[in-house]
Formats: sequence, C-alpha cells, structure tokens
Amino acid sequence: MSDIATEIAHDSAVYKTLLESTKAIPWKIDWKTMTFAYIGPQIEHLLGWTQDSWISADDWATRMHPEDREWVVNFCISQSQAGTDHEADYRALTADGEYVWIRDVVHVVRDDDGEVEALIGFMFDISERKKTEEKLKTLQRELEELSFKDGLTGAANRRMFDSIMELEWTNARRNSQPLSVILLDIDYFKQYNDHYGHICGDDCLKRVAQALGGAAARSRDFFARYGGEEFVLVLPETDAKAAERVAERCRSLIFKEQIPHANSETGQILTVSMGIGTILPGQQDDPRAFLDAVDRSLYQAKQQGRNRIVNGG
Ligand code: GH3
Ligand code: MG
Ligand code: MG
Repeated sequence: MSDIATEIAHDSAVYKTLLESTKAIPWKIDWKTMTFAYIGPQIEHLLGWTQDSWISADDWATRMHPEDREWVVNFCISQSQAGTDHEADYRALTADGEYVWIRDVVHVVRDDDGEVEALIGFMFDISERKKTEEKLKTLQRELEELSFKDGLTGAANRRMFDSIMELEWTNARRNSQPLSVILLDIDYFKQYNDHYGHICGDDCLKRVAQALGGAAARSRDFFARYGGEEFVLVLPETDAKAAERVAERCRSLIFKEQIPHANSETGQILTVSMGIGTILPGQQDDPRAFLDAVDRSLYQAKQQGRNRIVNGG
C-alpha cells in the first residue's frame, strides 16, 4: 500500500472507532435507494434489533410508534427534499415491544449538482429527558389543580368561585335563566375554636365541607370554601324555591353530622346560618352587588338568632 492509502485506511479505522464508541448512534441512508448504507452497532444495544436488520428506510418507519410514524416520516421526507437539516423526536420500537424516546438529528448530503445524495444522522436516546419532561408536566397540572383548590378542605377555593360565578352569571344572562347563590356561615365558630382548639376547628371545617359537598345534586351546581368558616353554593338555572330546598338539605346534612359544640348558643351541636339570593341577571346588574345582597340576607339570619335560612329571593 502507498503511504497515502495506508493513511486513509488508518484514518477510516480511527473514524470508525470513534463513531462506534459514542453513545449517539450514527447512520447513513442512500437517498436514491432509500436503503441504509450504514448504522452503528450500538443500535442493537439500544433497541435490540441487530445491526444488519436495518436494510431500508421502511425498517426505520415500521419500528416507530404508530402515533409518531406519520408526522415523523412526512416531516423528514419533506425536509430532506428541501435539502434542510432537521431533527425529530419519536418513540422507537424495541425488539421486546417497548418504546424508547429518540432524537434523530439529520444532515442532508448533496452531490456536486446540488441533488440530495444521502442523509446522515445521529440517534440519541432521550428517554430520561422525556421522563423528566413528563414528570414536570404532571407536576404543573397538579399545581394548576391545586391553585383552584382549598388546601384545608379540598373544596374549590375562592379563586375558582370567582371564575365560576362570572361564567354562570354570563350564562344566566344570555339564556334568561335564574341563578341562585347560597352563602353559609358556621354559627359561633370563634367559640368552637376557643373551646376545642384550632386543630379541632380545622377538622370541623373539613367535616362541614365534606357534608356540604353532597348537598347540590346537579352537575353544574358548584360548591366552594368562600373564606374562613364560610362556604358558598352556586346553583345555575335554579329559582328561589328550589334554592331554598337545597339550603334545607344543607341544614339537615350538617345536623346529621351531630358535631358537638358545647359553647354554641343555638344548642349543643354545630349549626350554620344561610343567606339565599336568586337573580335573573339583566344588563344593569352587577354580580358584586348581587353577592352583597346575599351577604345581607346571611347577616339577617345571624341577627334573627342563627341556625336559620333567610331567602332574600
Ligand atoms: P357567627 O355566629 O356570628 O358567625 O360567629 P363566629 O364566631 O362564627 O364568627 P366570626 O366571624 O367572629 O369568627 C369566625 C371564626 O372562624 C374566627 C376564626 O378564628 C375562625 N376561622 C376562620 N378560618 C379558620 C380556619 O381555617 N381554621 C380554624 N380552626 N378556624 C378558622
Ligand atoms: Mg364568618
Ligand atoms: Mg361564623
């Protein structure tokens, strides 16, 4: 062999060693025949398919998750035809029938006339990164849910109430349907805390929320913790009479709980007071003014001796 030939042979051996010892898996596809000119032996370690089982581009396409296949193949073909380097993330099928997330980074090689000659690329195992991404997404979703949830009782929180109220107000106005709201406030809860302690107070709030959660039966009925020891029910398409029936149910649900309250002036068990309001919202009406009116009814219920319902209509 001439010196140059020896050198080239030596260089090729070096390149081959380099390519086959990296974690990234190199490959080359001949564009005209759509067949593999080369694929690194590492592929067998990653996916289980032997090196020589990768013959045509079809082997690549069929060993891909069915949900990824169409867009990945179309994307890679169109990018290659345009002569654009590109990359795609997809799930590759293993010989065991599992899937591994792969990032394929593709370089388009052209001949002297500018025609596409071959594609060369590297496959990277990105399953760990994908797992982390999935975990982050789950956490984000959980956080979103939590931001609408009251931390103590697990009921919807005030923020959620504000959104729902705005939505149902608009719905009621658009469809000319009555909208009812019930505000509930625990009687003498300050005394409850004073007597049983804050921890028991918290448990009591959880029990009350649990019980009241079952008061409204329709799918669009909405229950939330309004604040401290106050709760709220939003009842779409519900008139004053129907709302009062729901309020009565709330009262009996709390009564059934038979939560001892030694220092209550209404008796020896925990009770609630309620204000009800019903409205057919018109252009001039304002949800805040409506809620103020419901709050005034609740205040009247307190004034009149507690453990009762005042229906402001
Ligand atoms: P009323 O019958 O007039 O409603 O009397 P009340 O004592 O229930 O009313 P007030 O508003 O004076 O007191 C509410 C109490 O609720 C005061 C506060 O310490 C308690 N509270 C509010 N939020 C929580 C909570 O998250 N946990 C506990 N344990 N107590 C709370
Ligand atoms: Mg209160
Ligand atoms: Mg109270």
